[in-house]
Amino acid sequence: MDSDVNKKLNRLGIMGGTFDPIHYGHLVAAEMARAEFKLDEVLFIPTGKPPHKDRRDVSDAKLRYEMVKLATEDNLAFGVSSLEIEREGPSYTVETLRVLRRTYPEHELYFITGSDALLEIFSWRESEEILSMIEFIGAARPGFDAKDFLLKVQHEHPESQGKIHYLEVPALAISSTDIRARVRRGEPIRYLLPEPVRLYLEKQGLYLET
Ligand code: ATP
Ligand code: MG
Repeated sequence: MDSDVNKKLNRLGIMGGTFDPIHYGHLVAAEMARAEFKLDEVLFIPTGKPPHKDRRDVSDAKLRYEMVKLATEDNLAFGVSSLEIEREGPSYTVETLRVLRRTYPEHELYFITGSDALLEIFSWRESEEILSMIEFIGAARPGFDAKDFLLKVQHEHPESQGKIHYLEVPALAISSTDIRARVRRGEPIRYLLPEPVRLYLEKQGLYLET
């Protein structure tokens, strides 16, 4: 029998973000999505120049990439891609998804986002095309009511029906913004992110200035 016939369709999770720095909020969301949606792998993709960020000084992409590597290397189901940081110009998610769609033609692709980022889906360039290529997993994030939003989106954009999934994760009120502010103020960040990442960012002298 042709082995391809029985070949299981692979399910790939994609976790995009600035990761400046990566923290346990990202990692918990990715791990819960992996288990709940039976993903074979979750690929973390640090952004190059993020089009939506109004912060003027996002840390160097190489440093952010390195921190993601350090944070994910102990999980066999987690991988890191330099796809966006190697590309010139601002990163638009739709471009990345086109590349991933071509790279993994047989995979089911799931884009994992926090509920705040999910709220922005419909402000993205070519959101309809995005929805035709990939499904979404919106992870509950403290302060963002994604459930009501989801109902509204499904009502206003029927084409998204069945393509946006809601995921309850143990609420972690951790954000990169808060971690950067803590470093600047000399407050502790230990236990908010993996220890190798903390040691790395301290060694690099990241976030000491605004
Ligand atoms: P910043 O404060 O700089 O915006 P961030 O903590 O929001 O950083 P991002 O790199 O912007 O981190 O986020 C990447 C993805 O991870 C987004 O989809 C975001 O919603 C999600 N995310 C971030 N923190 C959490 C969290 N605590 N729980 C669930 N999802 C999260
Ligand atoms: Mg953010």
